[in-house]
Amino acid sequence: MTALRFLYNRRVRITLLSLLTFLTMIAAVVTYLADKERQAAARLDFSRSPWAIAATEVEALRYSHALNLLARTPDDPALRRETLRRFDTTWSRVDVLKHGPEGKPLFRLPGYPETLEAFDKVLNDQDPLIAHLDKATPDELRAAYSQINKIIPRLREAFLTMLTDPNYNGMRSSAAQNELEARLGLLLIGLDTLIIVLFILLITEISSTQRLLRHSDAMVAVLREREAELATLHAASQQARQQAEEANNAKTAFLANMSHELRTPLHSILGFSETIKRASFGPIQPPRYAEYVGHIHQSAEHLFSLVEDLLSLTRIEARQYTLNETRLDLAAPCRFAVDLLRSKAEAGGISLTLGEAPAPPVVIFADLRTVRQCVLNLANNAVKFTPAGGSVSVTWGVNAEGEAEITVADTGIGISADEQGSVFDPFYQVDHGLARQHTGAGLGLPLVKSLIELHGGRVTLVSRPGDGSRFTLTFPKDRLI
Ligand code: ADP
Repeated sequence: MTALRFLYNRRVRITLLSLLTFLTMIAAVVTYLADKERQAAARLDFSRSPWAIAATEVEALRYSHALNLLARTPDDPALRRETLRRFDTTWSRVDVLKHGPEGKPLFRLPGYPETLEAFDKVLNDQDPLIAHLDKATPDELRAAYSQINKIIPRLREAFLTMLTDPNYNGMRSSAAQNELEARLGLLLIGLDTLIIVLFILLITEISSTQRLLRHSDAMVAVLREREAELATLHAASQQARQQAEEANNAKTAFLANMSHELRTPLHSILGFSETIKRASFGPIQPPRYAEYVGHIHQSAEHLFSLVEDLLSLTRIEARQYTLNETRLDLAAPCRFAVDLLRSKAEAGGISLTLGEAPAPPVVIFADLRTVRQCVLNLANNAVKFTPAGGSVSVTWGVNAEGEAEITVADTGIGISADEQGSVFDPFYQVDHGLARQHTGAGLGLPLVKSLIELHGGRVTLVSRPGDGSRFTLTFPKDRLI
């Protein structure tokens, strides 16, 4: 059926149908013409049949008979008239045979034109005699009689040849007509075959189209079914999504409330433990409590920063975090972070350096507290995850694309390619020895990412395990002043 694929095109089908109709019409016309031709051939045309020769012979016989009678009674005027009439009729018949109705001899028999010529000559010779029959002697009339009688058998001979030979008798189809009929027959057969083939093609095409239609109906039914299933699934997923959103909102609200609730007692713990640590109201007894109170203060600080981070993240998620944007020199947040971590780095045997301030200074429009927190988180991690003897640097400047950026680089333990995609997820921590030795809740990097994105910027990480890490904060171009 693939060979008939072109029939799927409606235009092709219409063209074929038109062709079919056209061919049928041609076949009808050709059949009609052929039939007419055949009828014409079958019609008897006496003037063209051998009987025209026979009639001439009969006339010539009548003429010779009249001559014979007149030779015996030359003075009979009625007989003279009769002889003259027969002579004229014979001559005109011979003339018709010679020239035919269209000026051509009627028959093309071998020797036939010569016979007519001879006949014509005889009649021509006798013409003066016939013109003066009253003066004709019986001898002259007898001579004319025998002259005409000699030539008559030649006419009969021609007549008989024509009668017995189908090629000349004019009653049967000539060779040319036979050929024409054969050609017409072939043409008709060809046309009929073509029509039948086209008809079969159309029938097969129609049945295959019907099959296709049935098939497509089935497909449509299946699609409708799938559509209904999809609609049900969509409704279910919408419902699930709504539930998830509601749950997420509830979680955000809960976290925000809890953070607020935790901050109040934490403030007290921090304040009182600080007072005790300083021994503001007298020495601590026994002295061992001083160590404990140090731990209490440290733990409260850790807990406080955790609650702060949580609160920031929930605010960002609830779109309630507002930036307090001003002009700021990037040197400020970098210096702040390095100053704050200097003692921690020294304690860990790590060299912590601040990059050289570029000229002119890099000034951007941003929220100082937020940028500070980002740099501090990154630098804090760098110090945390760099073993003794390593180094951490905080630098800033403008990159090749004209964007302001801050880079925190360390020579620490590094992060594997697998982990790099996850370290920005909340509560994610790479499970390795050094990380486990340090406190943390996996909120630092997600917070950095959210805060820099609030500025329209991005954080990128380049790291290899054992080779250290390089975190870069990039601010959008339009923030550069
Ligand atoms: P945490 O409070 O646990 O440090 P972060 O979100 O700041 O949480 O970091 C997530 C994890 O990413 C860390 O636990 C650590 O495994 C990894 N990480 C972050 N910074 C570095 C770094 N500079 N070098 C190696 N690992 C790092």
